[in-house]
Parts: sequence; structure tokens; C-alpha cells
Amino acid sequence: MKLLVTGGCGFIGSHFIHLALAKDAGTSIVNLDKLTYAGRPENVADLKNEPRYKFVKGDICDAALVRRLAKDADIIVHFAAETHVDRSILSAGEFAKTDVLGTQTLLEAALHSGHERFFHISTDEVYGSRKSGYFKEDDKLEPNSPYSASKAGAEMMVRAYEHTYGLKNTITRSSNNYGPNQHPEKFIPRAITNLLRARQIPIYGTGEQVRDWIHVRDNCEAIWMLLEKKHLGIFNVGMMDGQTNISIAKRLLALTGRDETSLKYVEDRKGHDFRYAIDTSKLRAAGWKPQVNLDAGLKETVAWYRANQKWWEPAVIDK
Ligand code: NAD
Repeated sequence: MKLLVTGGCGFIGSHFIHLALAKDAGTSIVNLDKLTYAGRPENVADLKNEPRYKFVKGDICDAALVRRLAKDADIIVHFAAETHVDRSILSAGEFAKTDVLGTQTLLEAALHSGHERFFHISTDEVYGSRKSGYFKEDDKLEPNSPYSASKAGAEMMVRAYEHTYGLKNTITRSSNNYGPNQHPEKFIPRAITNLLRARQIPIYGTGEQVRDWIHVRDNCEAIWMLLEKKHLGIFNVGMMDGQTNISIAKRLLALTGRDETSLKYVEDRKGHDFRYAIDTSKLRAAGWKPQVNLDAGLKETVAWYRANQKWWEPAVIDK
């Protein structure tokens, strides 16, 4: 397979590139990334001499560039996006542009290059929040933040290109990822990098919000399986193991040898979704099973941030 991967210098995209190249000697990858603040060339620096890998710096909204790259690919695996909810609340425009228009630009290129299908990375946040129970793939979308609304808009474009032009697709809606190489603006790495520097962790509200944390490797395994087995349609990807933010924070205190004086309760995020919860039985029935349990995954993640201060120090947001 010749893959055009977008956003491959980011957190999940870079893990996926490594996994895909390791899984199949017949796979080659062009990584198209704009290198925004979130794009880290270091994440793929070890692939410099890999003949099956090529990096192109560019914008997914650049129609001419994207069309040229799509011509040489069998399929686009689309990770690139603006991804941080807090940033979307401060400045929604870039999210609408990159996440919706960028996706449409890629769909158009895939269509013109005669691709059989389009592989789109979405998020469980498109469903919105619920107090109990689990969302299934055919539940309605009720996104609440400019980020999740932009991701839902992208999905609507993917859907429309199938309905209107017959471009088939696979969409993954994964829960919150954690693991090495995640930008320190996100909850878990922000907490770890603060604790390692003897700073406090900001906790929104009372910290009772519930998230279903999946290790990035397990998400990438799901994407690879769906790609390789050519599954079509929408798949939830998660652990079905909701944890409150405060319980995650307390585990991180224990793993870094800190106590509860390192917790700082701050004003809640505007419009903060209380609970994300997705039913992943469709993905499990297709043959996927997670390999990393939360305690082991958090331990490994803390160890990675401990050992890679040079990677995260330039990017920390609590200077
Ligand atoms: P990230 O913020 O770490 O990386 C995003 C990457 O996209 C960066 O390398 C950035 O440079 C690139 N990019 C941004 N705008 C671009 C543009 N216009 N053109 C080309 N490249 C551009 O993101 P992530 O956490 O790895 O998320 C990847 C995908 O997975 C996103 O689509 C996100 O919505 C989705 N997702 C993430 C999570 C999570 O917990 N991180 C959960 C569910 C879904």
C-alpha cells in the first residue's frame, strides 16, 4: 500500500507511521504535515534514511499540492487537524478551516485520483456528552466545542463525498489517547511535565469529568487493522473504561512521588463536556483487542517523559 498520511509529525500520526512501516514491508508512506506548533519533526527523525518514507512540508488546504500527492498514493489516512479544545474555545476559525476545509480538500483530491476509499480519523467528542450508557456508531452527533463541531463537520464532508460521488470511507472515532510524544498542552502530559518540574497540575472544576483513556499504540493497531482488512464505515475505538480526571491526576501523583498539594483546582472549561463514553463492540467483533492496561500505560508514559525532557521542555505551556 502507498499511503498518504496527513499530520504524521503529530502525536498519533507519528505513532501510526512507525507502526505501519513495521507491520508491512510492502507499505510506503508520504507524510504531509504543515508543522504547526503541534507538529514535531523529531517524532519521525529516526525515519530519515528509510527508503519507504518521505516527508513533505505543506498544508492540507493547499489543493494543488494535495492533488499532486494523492495521485501517487493508493489511499489517504487523514490525521491532520487542530486538536486542542482549549485553543478552539479561544480561536475557533483555524479549527473550521483546517478540520473542515482541509478534509474537503483531501476528499476532492482522493476522488480525482480515483482512490477506492478515504480513511478519516475522527473523535468520540463528535457525539457530545452523556451521563450514563455508551454511544454507538449510528447515534446522532451533538458536538459541543468548536473543536468537536469542526471534527463533526469534517465527518459530514466524508459522508457527503460517499453519498454524492461514491467515494467510500472508513472513519474511526477514538476516545482520548495518551502515551509518549503527546504535546504537553494535553491533560496527561501537561500533568506529568508539571509534576516532574515540581509544579501544580490544574484541575478543571472538581475534576469529576469522565474520559475513556486509550494508549496510542492500541488506537494505531485499530487503525491499521481497519485499513489492512479494508473495513468500511464508522468504528468507535476505546477501552470502555471511564475514569474521572481527578483519579487520573492522583495516579500521576503516585507515579511521580508527589502529594495532593500538587493539585490546583481552577475554574472549569467553558461548556466542558462531562462524560465521553463509546461502545466499542463493533470494533471488537472485527478482531481488535486492546493490549495496554491503563496502569501499565501510565507508568510507561511517565517513564518516557522523565527520560525525554529535551523533547517536551521547549513545548511546555506552563513556563
Ligand atoms: P496533534 O495535534 O498532536 O497533531 C496534529 C498534526 O497535524 C501536527 O503534526 C500538525 O502540524 C498537523 N497539521 C495541523 N494542521 C495542518 C494542516 N493544515 N496541514 C497539514 N498538517 C497540519 O494531534 P493528535 O492528537 O495526534 O490527533 C491526530 C488526529 O486524531 C486528529 O484528527 C484528532 O482530531 C484525532 N483524535 C485525537 C485524539 C487524542 O486524544 N489526541 C482522540 C481522538 C481523535
